[in-house]
Amino acid sequence: MSKVGETTLVLDLAALEHNYNYLRSKITPETKFLGVVKAFAYGSDMVAIAKKLEQLGADYLAVAYVSEGVLLRKTGVQLPILVLHPLASNFDDLIGYHLEPSIYSRNILNQFIEAAKEGEQNNYPVHIKFNTGLNRLGFSKDDVELIAEETKRSGCIKIVSAFSHLAASEDKNEQTFSLKQIESFKNLSSALMDRLGHAPMRHMLNTSGIINYPEAQFEMVRSGIGLYGYGNQVEIDAALKPVASLKTVISQIHQIEANESVGYNRAFKSNHPIKSATLPIGHADGIGRQYGKGKGFVTINNKKAPILGNVCMDMIMVDVTNIDCKEGDEAIVFGNEKSAEKFASGAGTISYEILTAISQRVKRVVTGI
Ligand SMILES: *Cc1c(COP(=O)(O)O)cnc(C)c1O
Repeated sequence: MSKVGETTLVLDLAALEHNYNYLRSKITPETKFLGVVKAFAYGSDMVAIAKKLEQLGADYLAVAYVSEGVLLRKTGVQLPILVLHPLASNFDDLIGYHLEPSIYSRNILNQFIEAAKEGEQNNYPVHIKFNTGLNRLGFSKDDVELIAEETKRSGCIKIVSAFSHLAASEDKNEQTFSLKQIESFKNLSSALMDRLGHAPMRHMLNTSGIINYPEAQFEMVRSGIGLYGYGNQVEIDAALKPVASLKTVISQIHQIEANESVGYNRAFKSNHPIKSATLPIGHADGIGRQYGKGKGFVTINNKKAPILGNVCMDMIMVDVTNIDCKEGDEAIVFGNEKSAEKFASGAGTISYEILTAISQRVKRVVTGI
């Protein structure tokens, strides 16, 4: 792997291709594939990832908010883009940039119909979101009649898909609940189809859903974390390749004597002499304070260097007492050798959080194109 001279998130598009092909191999060839690229493609590089997915033959993309979809359109992405959580205040941009809204409430349905009428739209593609137990966004069974009625009466929107989201697809202990959600989605989507008189696509599975409930793939699946190399299960992690590696360098090395301290609040105090290395990465780059005091570690010359004391805004200090290293040497926060999942679990969190936390200050370098 390439050496970096500053804090860099190295993105490997060959790994993305590998993960895409792996996830595709878990579904039938007819099932469509939606790549989730919200939150800067899970903290990586939304445009580079979206363009690669387009080239690989993905059928759809999804973002959380309208502004994310606008950014993709402005850089030339042509695939249909589902906006998972649009807000009424952004409907003009949504329509102007040909983004497709998730319609998740009566309010949003009515407001979107108004916006589509004003924009003189015909058959504007929309996606109906059903709540089957996550209790986050979505319609309930009492809304089916109204959705169909309003859609027909409006004449300006067309329901191209119905979808729902599993609450615990990665948790085998919640299998009974997940199966109940799937059953309930089947019933809701058939009731909707009966009333509409046509059959929109149905989709319900995220990455862990693809792995654990392939029988519920319907006409499309929606994968995010798996594309980026994480599968919420060790066997799946082993089959996937991390797209992002976070690397930095040693800026300075200090000899710390017994009874000295390191960093703010003197949070680390040594009782014997140690050697510390200062790295140019801190909580402003996404390494939150919860990784301090030894909860997080970096790898330098293949050895573990735990974080000493508190994480600063722009720096961390790590313990390199037993590591043969010098200023300018590379430090790996996460990547192939040590996964983001492992790094995150040290501080009691998950790959999703550490990946999406890496701030825009960190340089992105795209490889494997
Ligand atoms: C984020 C998101 C996904 C992707 O989930 P992964 O676990 O990352 O595969 C799919 N569907 C919805 C509705 C989401 O919000």
